[in-house]
Amino acid sequence: MHEVGIISAMLKTLERVMAEEELTHIEKVVLEVGELSGAVPRYMEECFPAAIYKNPFEYLKMEIEVIPGRIRSLDCDCEFPAGEDEFRCPECGSDKIKPSGGTEFIIKDIYGD
Ligand SMILES: [Zn+2]
Repeated sequence: MHEVGIISAMLKTLERVMAEEELTHIEKVVLEVGELSGAVPRYMEECFPAAIYKNPFEYLKMEIEVIPGRIRSLDCDCEFPAGEDEFRCPECGSDKIKPSGGTEFIIKDIYGD
């Protein structure tokens, strides 16, 4: 599970933002996590309590907005939603595809003072 690493990197970013914005604490962070970003929101929520246990972010709330994955066919240029394990274009059957959406991992909002 590399979500532990993702969360600690996210907390490091928050530390930097706190210093830059001169915040004394951050109450809530809102993340946008694409289905194709490589981070699994469910795992992130599972390891979040351990990641903030007894550190400056102990009372931080994390909210995750999931962005649906989109795939584009390089052969017919159609776009379709990323399915569970559908790695072929439903229109032309091509396996030359690439993600066209849902790859983001963004800190969208930070609530603090
Ligand atoms: Zn196609």
